[in-house]
Amino acid sequence: MIVAIDGPAGAGKSTVARALAERLGFRYLDTGAMYRALTWLALERGIPLEEADRLAALATDAPVTFEGSRVRIGGSDVTAAIREPRIDRAVPVVARHGAVRTVMRGRQRELADEGSAVIEGRDIGTVVAPEAGVKVYLVADAAERARRRMHDRPGLGADALATDLRLRDASDAAQMRPAADAELIDTTELGIAEVVDRIEQLVRARQPA
Ligand code: C5P
Repeated sequence: MIVAIDGPAGAGKSTVARALAERLGFRYLDTGAMYRALTWLALERGIPLEEADRLAALATDAPVTFEGSRVRIGGSDVTAAIREPRIDRAVPVVARHGAVRTVMRGRQRELADEGSAVIEGRDIGTVVAPEAGVKVYLVADAAERARRRMHDRPGLGADALATDLRLRDASDAAQMRPAADAELIDTTELGIAEVVDRIEQLVRARQPA
């Protein structure tokens, strides 16, 4: 079974998806990390972020690989580097190109086809895995999302973080739409375990006894 977890930055996707995958014994696939890794490599190689065809070719030639919790691309371990604020700001520019999305989505589908997985992203329930057994769309209010980000991005002030999130939401707007059959969960006032419990119940309800 595929569990699709979509939603904006800071809504809790990664924490919840990772914990849920562990609890269910499913694989965990972070599609945001794939776009981030491609962005990192494009910056490293000096490829202008407006050049869709060159970026799509790069995505084809240098697939992102996951080894446990490590993320690799083009021979480099980019696990830490892809969480830098410069990548936060550049990644929506790369992810907006249709040619890039075609390559990434193709690879994500291949990974999804390998068996049960929890997949997090923006367009998993709508485009990558519309057949997913469970679809969840996580949201949280803006102040709470910025507060959560402060833990992940030490060194950035609250105002800078809130601005970054607002700009990223605007850039990602085209991808940010819950699937019609997604369960909307507002995580603003919920703990991680509560959100995971709720999604686990949805999964169990779909699984044959
Ligand atoms: O989820 P995360 O913040 O790591 O995603 C980074 C960026 O990658 C998003 O802001 C978005 O631009 C892009 N993305 C996407 N489609 C996905 C996952 C991420 O466009 N499925």
